[in-house]
Amino acid sequence: MSYVDEVYERVVAQNPAQPEFHQAVKEVLATIRPVIDENEEEFRRDALLERLTTPERQLLFRVPWIDDKGQVQVNNGYRVQFNSAIGPYKGGLRFHPTVTLGTIKFLGFEQIFKNSLTGLPIGGGKGGSDFDPKGKSDREVMAFCQSFMNELFRHIGPNTDVPAGDIGVGGREIGFLYGQYKRITDRYESVLTGKGLSYGGSLARTQATGYGLIYFLDAMLKANGKDIKGQTIAVSGAGNVAIYAIQKGQQLGANVVTCSDSSGWIYDPDGIDVDVLREVKEVNRARLTQYKEKRPNSVYHEGKGVWTTKCDIACPCATQNELNLEDAKTLKANGCYCVAEGANMPTTLEATEYIQSQGMLFSPGKASNAGGVATSALEMSQNAERLSWTFEEVDSQLNRIMNNIFKNVDDAARKYGMEGNYVAGANIAGFLKVADAMKAQGIV
Ligand code: NDP
Repeated sequence: MSYVDEVYERVVAQNPAQPEFHQAVKEVLATIRPVIDENEEEFRRDALLERLTTPERQLLFRVPWIDDKGQVQVNNGYRVQFNSAIGPYKGGLRFHPTVTLGTIKFLGFEQIFKNSLTGLPIGGGKGGSDFDPKGKSDREVMAFCQSFMNELFRHIGPNTDVPAGDIGVGGREIGFLYGQYKRITDRYESVLTGKGLSYGGSLARTQATGYGLIYFLDAMLKANGKDIKGQTIAVSGAGNVAIYAIQKGQQLGANVVTCSDSSGWIYDPDGIDVDVLREVKEVNRARLTQYKEKRPNSVYHEGKGVWTTKCDIACPCATQNELNLEDAKTLKANGCYCVAEGANMPTTLEATEYIQSQGMLFSPGKASNAGGVATSALEMSQNAERLSWTFEEVDSQLNRIMNNIFKNVDDAARKYGMEGNYVAGANIAGFLKVADAMKAQGIV
């Protein structure tokens, strides 16, 4: 059996009941196979793939907090410090009821390659909890965040591990987490990113993942003789990534006609009104039915179905495995020629294979959504020099980074004879740098 297959079997056997983690590992191992095969003996001797697929440290902790009725609640807390070969662990915190250790491991594993692709010195990590901020009062969210930080603070630091936001963790949660960190440690330091502008946050960090996705998409389209201007885009999600992808898509001349949340989705033939969407989601924290009330021309559909929309380009920006084989076939049948991932692993393996087999363009999230973490690293730089850069400075660096990522991914795919396969290109380019650093640092 080849070394790659052996390692995949080992991962499945040693991490039972973690299908998302298996899926992420399977995709990476399958695409870096040509690199491993070139030097299989050496990689096997050094157990490089076993080390790469085993987190350096996994933290599991209890998070007790008191709700508004005086009832004690208990949630699970996680931080997986996956790989620090090229820099301190970096990756978001996810608060969502579906979060398990397997979810955090899949996200942390993906983060290793994403962070490597940014060209910045950041390792891979991820954390979170099965806590659901939805429907909780601000006081309950604060109580939870403070309790979460009471344990997490001892494991993080500006040169050790720097968490950020993800699903369910936005500016409000980062504020509460940071306040508690500072209170316990008495240190005002860059231990979290996505901070508010009044206490060390970076301009353009809020927009960075969505804007970065569109910068990457633009570069990919141009390299393939196409132009984003005038294209119809279907976006899923209505959170941080989706909102700013929609905004930047519109700024570059596309017509973005959909968005979705976990209850339903909106089709707005006149183009999604970002101001209305922000008010509904960021201010009122309401459902998309409220968008429909404010935009009578739009159509609200209950449940799933956003990928039945006729579009040129699809941008899944909600969550993992939200675009399956059926969806991919429907998109293709309706004339869609490109899928650019904003979320982490939103496309199933079968759907990805189908999309690629149909000659459609496909960008994996670990490349096209890397703008968020890249800008987090820029926030760390600003904190270290105690300066704040202008919006334009950060945005132009983000644009440059996303164009560089596309170029590196494209080059790596070509070099290994897989031109246009940006999944392979991203995994190979991300892997080579991390593997090189791991080799140089010996068996640790
Ligand atoms: P948000 O919490 O801001 O928004 C998530 C959106 O997706 C919401 O509209 C939410 O609906 C919807 N959603 C979440 N879970 C599900 C589900 N199980 N089924 C259907 N819809 C769901 O998160 P972000 O926008 O920050 O993150 C979106 C994706 O992008 C995630 O995969 C995340 O890992 C990835 N990402 C985020 C980065 C960032 O900087 N924020 C950076 C890189 C990647 P509802 O409102 O009903 O909950």
